[in-house]
Amino acid sequence: MSKISITLLSLLLWSASSAAIDSKNIAIVIHGGAGNIKAAQLSSEQERAYKLKLEQARNEAYATLANGGTSLDAVVKAITILEDSPLFNAGKGAVYNFEGRHDLDASIMEGKKLQAGAVAGVQTVKNPIVLARAVMEKSDHVFLAGQGAEAFAEQQQLSLVDNTYFNTEKRFKSLQKAKQSLLKTSWNQTDKDLEIDYKMGTVGAVALDQYGNIAAGTSTGGRTAKRYGRIGDSPVIGAGTWADNRSCGVSATGHGEFFIRFNVAADICARVKYQNLSIQAAADQLIQQELANIKGSGGVIVLDRQGNIAYSFNTKGMYRAFKNNREEHVAIY
Ligand code: ASP
Repeated sequence: MSKISITLLSLLLWSASSAAIDSKNIAIVIHGGAGNIKAAQLSSEQERAYKLKLEQARNEAYATLANGGTSLDAVVKAITILEDSPLFNAGKGAVYNFEGRHDLDASIMEGKKLQAGAVAGVQTVKNPIVLARAVMEKSDHVFLAGQGAEAFAEQQQLSLVDNTYFNTEKRFKSLQKAKQSLLKTSWNQTDKDLEIDYKMGTVGAVALDQYGNIAAGTSTGGRTAKRYGRIGDSPVIGAGTWADNRSCGVSATGHGEFFIRFNVAADICARVKYQNLSIQAAADQLIQQELANIKGSGGVIVLDRQGNIAYSFNTKGMYRAFKNNREEHVAIY
């Protein structure tokens, strides 16, 4: 074969393979927490910083998918970027517990075989989402907590840090504010009763890869001034995270006690699966009706196998971003 025909052939093969990737329904949707985020509270620089970080996480996760990575790779990519940013309540920048330390929770799930991994109350693991994935792929278990989870992280040679690595001034001030109010009231009152801005900022991602598989993950520091080993919904499979190729993938954020009791993430996908609802209708039923009726605040991101996305939140805002092969956007309010 002549040099020219070889070049022509490789060009043809190259364009065929890139067209094949372009035509796939790859998609990524991420969130950085829901809460009473009002436009007046954020300066234009703060707003810009949040949007830039969300775009970076989304774009790098999308590039992972476009380069042939799996939905699990994309979810871990997006979440580690957000965990490493002090802007969000996950990893660096996580909220403080009542004792002034950070207890981190995370979970991940894939929709083909419904495999899942989760960790709760870890204090020294730099990226809890990486540990959740290791639990899923390298252990016989689904859910590890506290010191045992940390011993497993060490055995897996994951990056460990001192608990002070997660410190930020902003979250420390929130703790002082929360403690003042808590000491005046009962420990189990709701955010609303206490009128505290808990500065939420849990992070999550749901991705669809070119092999048709959905994955979802969530990572958080939980709620400011949490006590007594409190664990929220984020590491609870079914409540804060769910993925099933037959219906959808979900990552939740909000008042975890409500999300656990209503099994929110799994219930949204069950409505899609058994009632044939669209992901938007199913998400709205849970967030705008079921939870709103009992004043359970928060939101979800949802993605289906066609690459459709849905957001639903009953708070003033939810940090969020999305990209598929047709469109992309980023929003806060
Ligand atoms: N759901 C998290 C928790 O309750 C907090 C959040 O999403 O803001 O721990």
